[in-house]
Amino acid sequence: MRIDKLLANMGYGTRKDVKKLLKSGVVRIDDVMIKDAKTQVSPENQEVTVSGEAVEYREFIYLMMNKPQGLISATEDAYDTTVVDVLEPEDQVFAPFPVGRLDKDTEGLLIITNDGKLAHQLLSPKKEVGKRYYAVIDGAVTEDDVAAFATGVTLEDGYETKPAQLEILSSGDTSEIELVITEGKFHQVKRMFESVGKRVTFLKRMSMAGLPLDEDLEPGEYRELNDEEIQWLY
Ligand code: URA
Repeated sequence: MRIDKLLANMGYGTRKDVKKLLKSGVVRIDDVMIKDAKTQVSPENQEVTVSGEAVEYREFIYLMMNKPQGLISATEDAYDTTVVDVLEPEDQVFAPFPVGRLDKDTEGLLIITNDGKLAHQLLSPKKEVGKRYYAVIDGAVTEDDVAAFATGVTLEDGYETKPAQLEILSSGDTSEIELVITEGKFHQVKRMFESVGKRVTFLKRMSMAGLPLDEDLEPGEYRELNDEEIQWLY
């Protein structure tokens, strides 16, 4: 790849900034000063330094965010702040995107990456990746609802949901539940409860593909996935 692209990707500014940096003579490849932005570099086999500091090259970034309410699950939006807008600039340079969507008022686990292959695996309907949600429901959730969700319910547009595991944590005027679904239709959890005459008042994703939300992450916080977690998702 070109040296200017590598440095821009690694957070050394825009291509224009990087060009200036190169001109100033502080960039070296295997200890040879490089000034030409078009110089090809093989980051796996060659050492790049800027002012004597080694540039650690990496292609992919994998983040786990505890998405807070109020953020949009997108890379950009004309009106609202997105989950990518709030990332540190050094993470934004990787051009990451959220893997799937959580509604603006939904909290919880969101994977943000620039690894399209992993995103495809997690989102492909064929893979039936499990997503576990915690929800507060207006009204009493019943064993009839558990049975209905287990066989599949019909949404208002006629779509029949796949079997889903509903667990009642508490039931009363308001109920608390956990629900595991293996698909990701628009507003799916909310619409499933609407189909049995109930309303979701709070929704949080607790896990995806068996990867639990890190409980140490406050809403709005995020961290990198470790190697074990990345392997787990693959
Ligand atoms: N189901 C919903 O209704 N909303 C979400 O954000 C995720 C699943």
